[in-house]
Amino acid sequence: MTKILLLGGTGDALRIARQLTSVDVYSLAGLGKVPDDLPCSVRVGGFGGSEGMARYIADEEIGLVIDATHPYAAQISANAVNAARHAGVPCWVLRRPAWQPRAGDDWRMIDGWDELTMALAPFRRPLFTLGREPLSHLDEIPPHQFWLVRCLDSHEDTERARIIAARGPFTLEGERALFALQHVDVVVSKNSGGSATEAKLEVARERRLPVVMLRRPSLPAADREFESVAELLDALHLSR
Ligand code: NAP
Repeated sequence: MTKILLLGGTGDALRIARQLTSVDVYSLAGLGKVPDDLPCSVRVGGFGGSEGMARYIADEEIGLVIDATHPYAAQISANAVNAARHAGVPCWVLRRPAWQPRAGDDWRMIDGWDELTMALAPFRRPLFTLGREPLSHLDEIPPHQFWLVRCLDSHEDTERARIIAARGPFTLEGERALFALQHVDVVVSKNSGGSATEAKLEVARERRLPVVMLRRPSLPAADREFESVAELLDALHLSR
């Protein structure tokens, strides 16, 4: 049976991992929870770049790499394509379709922190949903702003920022309550796609708030690309 290396760290990857077998390996960077109830083995930590991953693929006799990492985890995705090519095995990737703005939405597309700072200048109460990056900019908050930073990491609040340690999925009711209570006037988001963290966009729409959206990184093409877990699992069952 083809031995699979599944690169994860997302809810979708975990759903795929639950369908693997004891010969397969689920790989995590080591930033979050490590599941202990999977039918496959789990390895944690980096490979040492694409060369390290290529060596791992050869040593472990991996026959298929599946990249189900987050759409903004650009380095590991590029490494997966390059390592698989180098090792001579196929690389499949799961790419959730990006969210699309609807009529009336006010999305302001940005590419990095400098553009983000400029885009936020007119606002007072931004809600950051980008992960931990804003935590390293807490001493740069302009005097007219108070930041809400929602991420997985716990961090002490400051005079100018409230840190909300939370993991999705987030409900519409919960997001409505948060926006109202905290007087959010702009949302900062990655375009993650999927339903788990989409409710904030619906609430921004209801309250006619702008969304400052970080563009997705561009990634090298894999051998096969899938838009949903179901589609990928179907292909996997057919190929095994
Ligand atoms: P990244 O910048 O693409 O990767 C940085 C390095 O971390 C990689 O070069 C690799 O180290 C190691 N790494 C990442 N994912 C790995 C995996 N599944 N297994 C083994 N090593 C891994 O990634 P990131 O943006 O820091 O994200 C890290 C992890 O968090 C990813 O697995 C991703 O799926 C998950 N995640 C990311 C986001 C996000 O917004 N970026 C959101 C939710 C979840 P080596 O080069 O040493 O192999």
